[in-house]
Amino acid sequence: MFFWARYLFPEICYLYEKMKRDFILKQYKILVKMFQQQGYFFVTFKNYMLGAPDGLHSMRHPLVILRHDVDRKPENALVIAKIEKEVGIRASYYFRIVKESYDEDVIRQIVEMGHEIGYHYENLSLCRGNYELSIMNFELDLEKFRKLYPVKTICMHGSPLSKWDNRDLWKRYDYRDYGIIAEPYFDLDFDEVFYLTDTGRRWDGDSVSVRDKVGGQRRKQGDASFLPGMNRMGFLAGTDGRKKKEFKDLRFRYTWEIIEAAERGVLPDKVMINTHPQRWTDNSLEWMKELVWQNIKNLAKKFIVSRKGAKALRRT
Ligand SMILES: [Zn+2]
Repeated sequence: MFFWARYLFPEICYLYEKMKRDFILKQYKILVKMFQQQGYFFVTFKNYMLGAPDGLHSMRHPLVILRHDVDRKPENALVIAKIEKEVGIRASYYFRIVKESYDEDVIRQIVEMGHEIGYHYENLSLCRGNYELSIMNFELDLEKFRKLYPVKTICMHGSPLSKWDNRDLWKRYDYRDYGIIAEPYFDLDFDEVFYLTDTGRRWDGDSVSVRDKVGGQRRKQGDASFLPGMNRMGFLAGTDGRKKKEFKDLRFRYTWEIIEAAERGVLPDKVMINTHPQRWTDNSLEWMKELVWQNIKNLAKKFIVSRKGAKALRRT
């Protein structure tokens, strides 16, 4: 950046430099390696739910459940999967059934690397609220995925522009009847697991997220109602009491803030990191497109969230 700007506004320039490098793959690698250095183990969502973290580690170690929602650009997911293999960790990849996400060749390669594959379902919004059709399609889609990997976990796609919340399908049906052991939005205790998501291309995107938010309390199956504008969490640290402290105020906007917090050892013992691989790239044109497009989308989402909030208020 221009020399005089650096001289006159060092703080701003410092921030600019860091932001400029956010959501690139190098940054991602630094992020996961920092957690590793701090003694965190990475587990797939399935293994976490089964109580068997990858490798020979005990659940008492600090751990990261690493999840990727592949909304589009499956080739980016493949790059991330390779990075993870390189540093020796495993993650859960949730693919949608639509053509922007579902890519058998990519899925096969990711399976070969030892990662978990799950279904990023959106049947209710695809079937425009028709429950019978949705559950039939869900079963067929699951079968299709299971030809490539024995899928045991699923995770909803937020479909922010749709009026249907895909989780509502489980108000009428039970995913356990389909051999599914867990869905993060129902089965994870977010009082215990600190949730970090890059939804909205920022790590504090609650205000711009229509559905990807956790309410700070365990949700029971069948209770898929969320109020917009909910706080991300009220949090108590890991079960071994190593860091018994409230983490309510832990909020991050940029990846480097998380890296620094991990380095300082102030992060909880159980963390779920959720990324959308489409926004992580080293290609500057793609990076810029994602930056601009996501900011436009955030504005639209903010509008939807505030309208929903207003409606909810009117109902009370
Ligand atoms: Zn999604």
